Amino acid sequence: NRLGWAVCGLGHFAQNYAIPAIGQSSEGKLTGLISGNRDKAMAVGTAWGVPRDAIHDYGMQGLADNDNIDIVYVITPNAIHEENVIAALEAGKHVLCEKPFAHNSAAARRMMDAAKAADRKIMIAYRAHFEPNNTALKEMVQKGELGDIWYATSDHHRPLDPSVERDQWRMVRDLAGGGSFMDIGIYSLNGLIWLLDEVPQRLIATTFSPETPDGRFGEVEAIAQVQLVFPSGRRASISSGYVANKKRIDLWGSQAVAVLDPATEYSGNRLTITTAEGQETPKPSGPSEQQFTGEIDHFSKAVRDGIDILTPAEMGLRDMHLMEAVYLSAERGE
Ligand code: NAD
Repeated sequence: NRLGWAVCGLGHFAQNYAIPAIGQSSEGKLTGLISGNRDKAMAVGTAWGVPRDAIHDYGMQGLADNDNIDIVYVITPNAIHEENVIAALEAGKHVLCEKPFAHNSAAARRMMDAAKAADRKIMIAYRAHFEPNNTALKEMVQKGELGDIWYATSDHHRPLDPSVERDQWRMVRDLAGGGSFMDIGIYSLNGLIWLLDEVPQRLIATTFSPETPDGRFGEVEAIAQVQLVFPSGRRASISSGYVANKKRIDLWGSQAVAVLDPATEYSGNRLTITTAEGQETPKPSGPSEQQFTGEIDHFSKAVRDGIDILTPAEMGLRDMHLMEAVYLSAERGE
């Protein structure tokens, strides 16, 4: 018995990745849509066989009465997660919320309070935790195969394109909550914490926004550079950017150096291990695209069978706190 999923916000990621993944999931099926644009929602609904009466607007009236919808997947701009997540929870639905959880930690907390009051679950869509090359590396680290890891680096960069709709809200601080770090630097931060199984204790950050003729970085940072110190003493250096195009994670172990390059693309990620003996590229258990269905299947099971959520709301809140620390450090130079 597959659970019913409704997608809220029918933008680029929703239409091209989330909805197809639900379509391919063995544990979930698309049974509803929530959108502010009725014509778009009707077209998407027709393409995916969603009944007309399961197409709701953001007010979500009637959603509570639709027993074919168990889970709402919120994929709106970062600052618009909160109102949709809370409306879905109040309609009695569980929520998969896109990363970052919110535009600030106060909003994340309010969503967690609402989930508690409604006795519903929230998962954060950190897809890398379900990506085969990333999970292979996580296993190697757990088995100690890299030796001691006292240093790690990770860089997440992708060009911002003001000519496309999906990047227009990303230039507005009130909607995005921040710039490249909030959008994709979060993959470096969350990825290293997960792989190393340790949360940084201290950090120092700088941000930079070059002037451009179109003023695209007028409100949000283009570049962020962060030094992290972990409780074990381990160091990491991470960066994010809205200019170049590269996403990688490097773990500098005493026995082996592991490089995920690319680390967090939608497809074609690759793990390379370098030791004294040479270099190898372990074959992943499946294609990178498995990350999308993996999330849908996992949360469906968490809701239906009560298994622990691998990327829960608490993780999303923790990352919001750390990202706020990054921006505070950059602002104060401390
Ligand atoms: P998008 O602009 O393509 O989609 C956002 C949708 O929200 C649009 O359909 C838009 O109409 C709608 N919307 C609702 N209220 C809005 C408002 N007040 N202002 C503007 N738009 C509003 O953006 P996207 O790239 O699909 O990103 C959406 C969310 O998904 C973000 O939180 C983003 O961080 C996340 N995302 C995650 C991944 C991933 O790999 N997990 C990839 C891309 C985006």
